[in-house]
Amino acid sequence: MKIINARLRKQPDLYTLEVEDGLFSAIRAQQGYIDNAAANNPADDMINADGKLLCAPFVEPHIHLDAALTAGEPNWNQSGTLFEGIERWSERKPMLNEQDIRQRVLKTVELLVANGVQHIRTHADTSDPTLVGLKTLCDLRDELKDRIDIQVVAFPQDGLLSFPNGLQLMEQALEYGADVVGGIPHFEYTRELGEQSMKTVIELALRYDRLVDVHCDEIDDPNSRFLEVLACEALFKELGPRVTASHTTAMHSYDNAYCSKLFRLLKQSGINFVSCPTESIHLQGRFDSYPKRRGLTRVKELNEAGINVCFAEDSIFDPWYSLGNGKLLRSLDFGLHICQMMGYKDFQSALDLITDNGARTLNITDRYGIETGKPASFILLEGEDDYSVLRNQGEVLLSVRQGEVLMQRQPARVVFNRLAH
Ligand SMILES: [Zn+2]
Repeated sequence: MKIINARLRKQPDLYTLEVEDGLFSAIRAQQGYIDNAAANNPADDMINADGKLLCAPFVEPHIHLDAALTAGEPNWNQSGTLFEGIERWSERKPMLNEQDIRQRVLKTVELLVANGVQHIRTHADTSDPTLVGLKTLCDLRDELKDRIDIQVVAFPQDGLLSFPNGLQLMEQALEYGADVVGGIPHFEYTRELGEQSMKTVIELALRYDRLVDVHCDEIDDPNSRFLEVLACEALFKELGPRVTASHTTAMHSYDNAYCSKLFRLLKQSGINFVSCPTESIHLQGRFDSYPKRRGLTRVKELNEAGINVCFAEDSIFDPWYSLGNGKLLRSLDFGLHICQMMGYKDFQSALDLITDNGARTLNITDRYGIETGKPASFILLEGEDDYSVLRNQGEVLLSVRQGEVLMQRQPARVVFNRLAH
């Protein structure tokens, strides 16, 4: 496969890229536009990118595929709070079976692939004695591995230590093959159990040699401070880059003096952060009147401090969030607005938040990126750089994985009848 006239992120020139045996074999700057009208058919192994942006695939680092497409079943979340979401989900859980999960997961994965995602980290609820969601997701991960990368987090939705047999279920999930240990300290019954759960999560990660991704301090309570316990354990056990704190929305409400002290630890620990802008702006601030908190973690400040932070969608039509469409560009748009990352410089590297930073969180940087020798996995976007793709919410026109075309889209064409002049 050969791609001509491609723009690469943060580069002024047009590029030609060559692919052999599923890997990038050459990436060369061109002298100018190559005029080759014949070159526009991926099936012919020749692609004319026509000046559009070719970039590494989108990474969805936090989604709940087991719950996707279940909003309103059997009841809708009326209050819009996280905690009612957990209640509504516990009503849906007894109805889960393998076929139901498979069907919904495949539809959701299709939606994500159609929008340029090639790497997914999904949480799978282990607060279910049958573990049917987790097992089905692990099975699908293996079955779909030629088409998409899936990491499965064993996520104790109702508590690792507060839910009956929570710890045993977690261990069963890890033995079955979950890739990542999860946690939910702010939902444990007491502060002590929350802290203990963070130590347990790190111990399990060491014992089973797995990554860590915790739903951490997903609450507006400024006293929810489990992040410091997680980061400290990660630092002491030298696991930092293998550990992720998702949400950390309480950080929005921490006072600045505490935050300043906390950032020193976060930076030293090297842990990663995931923020879910649409989910958090919807679920948080629900107990406020006015002024009403935004309830997102301090993405701008984390980013400026050189701490790795990425955006995720979290939900697609589930008990917590009844919109969502697999478009990470939408989450990025929301996130930049809510976090006030709207400077010219922010726009130049905006796609980092749904590409490279997500790849770092997933610990896949050894096989991710537009570089000679790496797997030829990329997407082609409507737009020529981060700014124009973001501003126009550019569609994904093509997604190629290890040299194989995963999806193609014809750009929409508008015909004006009255504005012509
Ligand atoms: Zn989540």
